[in-house]
Amino acid sequence: MINIAIDGPAGAGKSTIAKKVAAAKGYIYVDTGAMYRAMALYLLRSGIDRDDTDAISAACQAPEITIEYRDGIQVVLLDGENVNEYLRTPRVSDMASRSSANPDVRAKLLQLQQDLARRQNVVMDGRDIGTVVLPDAQVKIFLTASVDVRADRRYKELIEKGEKADLGEIKAQIKERDARDMNRPIAPLKQADDAVLVDTSDMTIEEVVAAITRIIEEKI
Ligand code: C5P
Repeated sequence: MINIAIDGPAGAGKSTIAKKVAAAKGYIYVDTGAMYRAMALYLLRSGIDRDDTDAISAACQAPEITIEYRDGIQVVLLDGENVNEYLRTPRVSDMASRSSANPDVRAKLLQLQQDLARRQNVVMDGRDIGTVVLPDAQVKIFLTASVDVRADRRYKELIEKGEKADLGEIKAQIKERDARDMNRPIAPLKQADDAVLVDTSDMTIEEVVAAITRIIEEKI
């Protein structure tokens, strides 16, 4: 199977790029952040305190999180319910970034992610795909951009959707999430030794897709 790993910090454009690359190649796109978000939604709905490690460890065993593809779109099912529309709120982002540091949460989702990549060609994005989930991936990309550019992109995305947004607040949230993701003891966000670094700060989406397509063609 062909496995392409794309890692990087929040707002680097991983999902936009990974989706386009997967469509061009005819591979399945797997958004692992959405799995952590579904777990976070479950924990929030269960009233679990975001700092209660033991409660998170115990609760995370219960939910069944699965992935399906409907019309080419990844649908995350939490105990059978399509929860896609609830995953992108700041509250879920915050809980996902906290609960994803928990070893039991990670062990559970790791299994699911590795099973998906064993069965089909995938472009998988996240934080630890090249380092932990798919260490043997044929192509590894570390996608990044300056924090100002990433915050600005998120801000514009929200404004375009007609939502209220505060640029300073978004920037602070991104910084906080990056720090937590980079400094956790298990599977922290970091560039794999054999990953290619792509800094998208001054690139358009089309330029990034072209650059990554070239990298893939060189490696496969
Ligand atoms: O990519 P996204 O912003 O949707 O991810 C939400 C959170 O899930 C991240 O902030 C991170 O804490 C966690 N995550 C992770 N490992 C992954 C993907 C996401 O820890 N492979």
